[in-house]
Amino acid sequence: QVDGRRLVMVSNRLPMSLERTEDNDWQTHPAAGGLVSALDPVMRRRGGVWVGWPGIADEATDTLRDVLDARYNADSAYRLEPVALTRDDIADFYEGFSNEVIWPLFHNRFTVCRFEPDYWQAYQRVNREFAHRISEVARAGDFVWVHDYHLVNVADELRALGVHNRASFFQHIPFPTADIFCNLPWWREIVYALLSYDFIGVQTVTDRINFLDVLTTLFDHVETQAGEYGIDINIGDDGLTRDKQQLRIGTLPISIDYDHIERMAASEDSLTKVQRFRGNWRDRTVVIGVDRLDYTKGLPEKFEAFREALRRYPELRTRVTLQQHVVPSRQRVPQYVEQKEEIERLVGEINGEFTEPGWVPIHYSFHSMDQAELMAHYQVADIALVTPLKDGMNLVAKEFCAAQRDSDGVLILSEFAGAAAELGDHALLVNPHDVVSTAERIHEACYMAREERCRRMDAMREIIRSHNAFDWVEEFLRAAGANQ
Ligand code: UDP
Repeated sequence: QVDGRRLVMVSNRLPMSLERTEDNDWQTHPAAGGLVSALDPVMRRRGGVWVGWPGIADEATDTLRDVLDARYNADSAYRLEPVALTRDDIADFYEGFSNEVIWPLFHNRFTVCRFEPDYWQAYQRVNREFAHRISEVARAGDFVWVHDYHLVNVADELRALGVHNRASFFQHIPFPTADIFCNLPWWREIVYALLSYDFIGVQTVTDRINFLDVLTTLFDHVETQAGEYGIDINIGDDGLTRDKQQLRIGTLPISIDYDHIERMAASEDSLTKVQRFRGNWRDRTVVIGVDRLDYTKGLPEKFEAFREALRRYPELRTRVTLQQHVVPSRQRVPQYVEQKEEIERLVGEINGEFTEPGWVPIHYSFHSMDQAELMAHYQVADIALVTPLKDGMNLVAKEFCAAQRDSDGVLILSEFAGAAAELGDHALLVNPHDVVSTAERIHEACYMAREERCRRMDAMREIIRSHNAFDWVEEFLRAAGANQ
């Protein structure tokens, strides 16, 4: 223990995936991404264990542990501890309860939820399994930090096992209003499970208000008090709670590794690609979209808004191109397959309506890019169109800003993305359901004077730079009491 308590990080996926090769050996794939790069340094500094699934089904825990020990743990400042999942677990816990129940429900889409009792059983079982693994590796005094909606029940299961380490939870996705949340047949169980944490972090004040609203739906006596790092909540003993409960909730918007993004954007690899891509567009205005394939991302609404802009403002035709990158995701969940069909039909329809010799309105790609390529696309774009119907944060919005080294881009951002709470009116905020005003904002962005573009972008870059992913980790640990 070098600095503060040892950490036990808990997430559905480990920051390392394992794969069996054809000759029955093993390959390791380190996970990239902002969260891992933000958490890795603090794990190195404090030491501890990261508990999660290494991305391969139907392997014994001991097998997975041996591989991780040999390939990673032997010379690392912290251990990776595997949780073994079966194919059934993945179908019912991950694809089922996590992605077909909690994900849509928490993004206000409760009509697409599949409230299968088997999913709930699997969710409880897998969360218990995570708690078992943690109970084996956690030492007294370790600080447990659980990430996201797959693992809400972990603290409750830990308490049932007699583990009383300080435990906190960060919810990366939104928290819905009580009206929506209470559609879940097991909503009370989820609330009780959340109450087993000492600290809960959420992305926005709205999420915090919604959570408090749910608590007051369930309990008669909920007292709140503004604390140093959030809201202290006391739930009186009204016969429903086992004891008087205390909980703290804090608003801690997640961020990106700003310097890394800026460096990547300035890398030779990225700049070579910028030159190449720019040649494709000559003097056209490029509007970029980068979204995982997901019904929460508002892709059909975005295409409708772009169509509306081309209809209302004929002068934009041949001048403006929407370059939409859709990243493959959750292709085994039926709604995602339907979503792909819907957006591809719409792209075809809109291109059919407007294409002229030498100009196609929407350039659509269904692929995933490496970072250098993504940074090049961000830089070549003049405008980013980020229109989720609901999003915990939306890191693409922040990355686009960090990549604008010339401060010249315009961000059109859904007011329902967590990022809107921080970036506010420096972005052009839109209600993505409002196709007409989104079209007007697209037009406005195309004609915005350079001075205004830079003023807005400089302000957003400063907000993100001064609150990067490392600051977020430190703030969370401080707020959750991990330094005491
Ligand atoms: N991203 C990526 N490859 C791509 C496109 C995007 O790795 O081809 C990354 C992007 O850099 C961002 C993340 O995917 O960090 C998307 O995060 P966001 O919060 O915007 O949405 P999520 O997919 O988590 O809902």
